Amino acid sequence: MSFLDEAQSDVPLLSEKHSGIPEFLLEKAREAKAGVFETRTKPKATSDRRPVIPPGVEEQVFVTALGELEKQLGQDNVERNNKPLKDGWYMEHPNTHDLMTILDEEELVPSAMVYPGSTEEVQQVVLWANKYHIPISPISMGRNLGYGGAAPRVRGSVLVDLGRRMNKILDISPEDYTCLLEPGVSFFALHDAIKKKGYDHLWIDVPDVGGGSVIGNTVDRGVGYTPYGDHWACHSGLEVVLPTGEVIRTGMGALPGNNTWQTFPYGFGPYSDGIFSQSNFGIVTKMGMTLMPNPGGHEGFMYTFQKEEDLNQLIEIIRPLRISNILENVAQLRHVTQTIAVRGRPRTDFYKGEGTIPDSVVHEVAATLPIGDHTWAYYGMSYGPPHIRQYKLSIIDTEFKKVPGARRIDPSTLPPDEYFWARDRIASGTPELHELRWVNWMPNGAHIAFSPVSPIRGTDATKLFELAKKRHDEFGVDLFPAFCVGLREMHLIVELVYDRADPKRRKDVLDCLRHLVEDAAACGYGEYRTHLVLMDQVAGTYNWNDGALMKFHERLKDALDPNGIMAPGRCGIWPKKYRNRGWEMTKASGGNSQGDGVAPPS
Ligand code: ADP
Repeated sequence: MSFLDEAQSDVPLLSEKHSGIPEFLLEKAREAKAGVFETRTKPKATSDRRPVIPPGVEEQVFVTALGELEKQLGQDNVERNNKPLKDGWYMEHPNTHDLMTILDEEELVPSAMVYPGSTEEVQQVVLWANKYHIPISPISMGRNLGYGGAAPRVRGSVLVDLGRRMNKILDISPEDYTCLLEPGVSFFALHDAIKKKGYDHLWIDVPDVGGGSVIGNTVDRGVGYTPYGDHWACHSGLEVVLPTGEVIRTGMGALPGNNTWQTFPYGFGPYSDGIFSQSNFGIVTKMGMTLMPNPGGHEGFMYTFQKEEDLNQLIEIIRPLRISNILENVAQLRHVTQTIAVRGRPRTDFYKGEGTIPDSVVHEVAATLPIGDHTWAYYGMSYGPPHIRQYKLSIIDTEFKKVPGARRIDPSTLPPDEYFWARDRIASGTPELHELRWVNWMPNGAHIAFSPVSPIRGTDATKLFELAKKRHDEFGVDLFPAFCVGLREMHLIVELVYDRADPKRRKDVLDCLRHLVEDAAACGYGEYRTHLVLMDQVAGTYNWNDGALMKFHERLKDALDPNGIMAPGRCGIWPKKYRNRGWEMTKASGGNSQGDGVAPPS
């Protein structure tokens, strides 16, 4: 397919493909796609690709091994990664590489993709990987963009793409407000199924963009924006294939005949679920999730604040309101550059100079927008019937207006395509696609996140913001910060947007991020989640007591995965045969993702 054909082809629907778009978002998806291709200059990959094979495995052995797996899973379900790499875009994302690559795009690529259709077939893949000592890397949907997408950490791993054939909603309980899912169920699909069943009393919690897998997002500890925004805290029960091929069910799932797997997460004995999130200790094949009750009404609201320095006072106001649940959802406090960028236009529409876009330009543009000039925009949601909402909203109004210059934006004055309405839908459980648009800020736009956690305190927010600003100025990267306010902490998500076809820009952005991680750690802040290429560095910052936590993780890894086949290096956890061979990527080690081979099997 030519570049033009690709740009003009239609977006797959959810009814056609597990990763497709629901019909109600089709128009929006078409517009988003047009925007992405409008700014794309990157040519399609050429076909002279280096052959990709797993480390420590001979080409011929690998071919024989794949042939054996084909016999077990069927020919269509084993695919060698030897075709030109095609980027696509969010809705038509590749599983052959990271669409938003930060290294050369050939660095973090799998050697093959396999598509198991059941837990038993996942077990077969795992046993096969152990037999041949081939690293495997599981994904559910592979849309973890900004954190590595579908890519494995070790070049030449075999990607286990679970979503393609394991995408059933196994149960939705309208009485218990729970569901049981397979890996390929997206937020779009779960929302669609609940609507189709007519369960208006059930809500789901959705992240900024709804195309990710519920399981993938949850095991990577992603967040959403209703009161159920902490996805990991809201899951209940896992089915996991261990690195040696056994299957376990956690919590109440271990009790045969139980009817509480999705309602009581703990069961009896150690709570083992934690070791299966942000790790490489198993492949999750089923997960239970709790659903939110429809609160009987909701009302999005928005405030803007004029000055950068207002951040301190505002966060101090937010904390007690959030902890006491007057502010009920995981709200976002976003910076004005994002307000502009989320309109989907390239930066060159506003500014053509080098370095970061000047404040004067930003404020001039902001003054022309429906919400007017500002520095901070708070997007919140109040839940319940009108009189309950009124009670909470009046307290919020009094408190927020203590910040001089604070303005409440009347939503009825905003046009239907204003970003506010996307946040309004997200915070009331309807999945969206709008957020993507700021990627068009740069040609061939890609993003990677700096995501430190802090308490909900003004001084911490200001310190992190200033630290980010300083490094962004130094590297000439426009600053897109958003604070996502949890119950007692905030995730600051700073998205660095870059042209992925420009190696110099990619390097600048990665250097900027490495400084940010280091600067933040020096002040006692750590990331809640990170990109594949930063995992070693971030894991290295959690080093209290001579790295005691990582030593514990390595002991678990060695016990659970003696052959080191499961997602080596994920979250900085390396199996024994990779250790001390230069696989770690840190600020000091430079840009080599491939290390110096693996120890031969003992
Ligand atoms: P999403 O598409 O929901 O954003 P992904 O499928 O890309 O998420 O998953 C994000 C990351 O979480 C993957 O790279 C992988 O490391 C891990 N992961 C995803 N699904 C599973 C799973 N079923 N079992 C174990 N780890 C998983």
